[in-house]
Amino acid sequence: MKLYEYMAKEIFRRNGIPVPMGAVFTGVDGVAAFQEKTGSVAIKSQVLSGGRGKAGGIKFATEPQDAISKVQELLASKIKGCQVETVLIEEKVTIERELYLAITVDGSKRQIVLLASVAGGMDIEQVPEEQVIKRFIDITIGLQPYATREITRQMGLKGREAKQTEEVMLKLYQVFRKYDAELVEINPLVVTPSQVLAADGKMTVDDEAAYRFLPEVPYVEEKTAVEKKADDLGISYVELDGEVGVMANGAGITMATLDLLQHFGSSARNFMDAGGGSSEKATAAALEILLSTNPKALLINIFGGITRCDDVARAFVQVKKALDLKLPVVIRLVGTNEDLGTAILREQGIESFKSVEEAVTKVISLLKGGGTDVHNS
Ligand code: GDP
Ligand code: MN
Repeated sequence: MKLYEYMAKEIFRRNGIPVPMGAVFTGVDGVAAFQEKTGSVAIKSQVLSGGRGKAGGIKFATEPQDAISKVQELLASKIKGCQVETVLIEEKVTIERELYLAITVDGSKRQIVLLASVAGGMDIEQVPEEQVIKRFIDITIGLQPYATREITRQMGLKGREAKQTEEVMLKLYQVFRKYDAELVEINPLVVTPSQVLAADGKMTVDDEAAYRFLPEVPYVEEKTAVEKKADDLGISYVELDGEVGVMANGAGITMATLDLLQHFGSSARNFMDAGGGSSEKATAAALEILLSTNPKALLINIFGGITRCDDVARAFVQVKKALDLKLPVVIRLVGTNEDLGTAILREQGIESFKSVEEAVTKVISLLKGGGTDVHNS
C-alpha cells in the first residue's frame, strides 16, 4: 500500500527525520491564514504518483489570494490521471542541493538495500547507474553508523551536510523496519543553509502488515473507481494508459496478449482476466467495465477450456446489440465448441480469428486506420 506524501512525512517527522513545516488542506478554508503565517509556500498536490513537479502538480505562492487560487486550481485538476483531493502546503525551502535517499528490498538478492545519490530531484531511473550508491544491509546487524559514514564519503559530502545526512539514513532505516515498509524514499533530500530535510517522501508498506499500524497509518485506497467496481464483481481488472481494451480468460493468456500487443506496436488501455465468466450477464458487466475508460478498440482473446466458445459468442452478440458498440472489436476464439462459437459470430457478421497473432495485428491495423471494423454488419 502506497502512502501519500503527507502521511510519509508525518511518519518521518514522528521518527526524527526533519521535514518542512506544513499542513494538509482539502479546500480553501484556512489557506490564507496558513500562507500569511508561513510566508513563501509550496503547494503540493497529493496523488500516489511521482513526477508531480513536471506534471504541474506543485505550485508556489507568496501571498494569500494567490495561494487560494492555486489551491483551487490544483483541487480542480487531475495529475497523471488522478483527481487531486488533498494538497499539502509547506514552507518553501531554500535549496542548496538535492540528494537522493531510499531503502527498499532487493528481491533477487533477498536483502535490504540502501540507495543514495547526489543526483537528487530527478527520477532515479534516469540517473546513470554509476551515480547511484548501493549498499546492502545485513538485517541481523542493521544499518551501522560506520556504514552511513562510508556512504556519505562516497557521495562526497562533508561537515554538517554529511553528518545530518547520516542521521537521516539511520532514522530512515528505523522507519523502514518499524513500519514493515517495502520502500521508503526521499527525493529530494534537500540541503538548506541550516538543515538537511526531506522535501518529498514516499512510502510503500506491506499490505498484509498495514493493519498493525492503524490508526497511525490509515488505509489508502489505491484502486480507481472502475477498478473498485470490477473488484465488487469479482473480476480482476487493471487500468493502464495505452490504446486497446483487453479481455482474456486466464492470467497467463492475459499477460501473453499484453506482450503481443506491445510486440506488434500497440499497448493496452486496460486489461481484464474474465476467468470462467461466459454468461451473458457477466460478459456485459465485463465489457461495460472495459469500455468505461474509453479504449480505442477491444481485443477479446478466449482460449476455451471450461469456458465454452459458443457461450462467449452468444453473450458477446447480445451485449454488442444491447450496448450498441461502435468501436472496433477483434475476437480470437479457440477451444471448446469453437466451431459453434465462430458460426454464431459469423451469422452476425462478426469475424473471429484462430491465431492470436492475426487477431493482434488485425486490431492494430484497425487502430491505424488500415482496415474496416471487423464486425460492421
Ligand atoms: P515530485 O515531482 O512528485 O517528485 O515532487 P517533489 O516534492 O520531489 O518536488 C519536485 C521538485 O520541486 C523538487 O525536486 C524541487 O526542485 C522542487 N520543490 C519542491 N518543494 C520545494 C520547495 O519547498 N522549495 C523549492 N525551492 N523547490 C521545491
Ligand atoms: Mn520527488
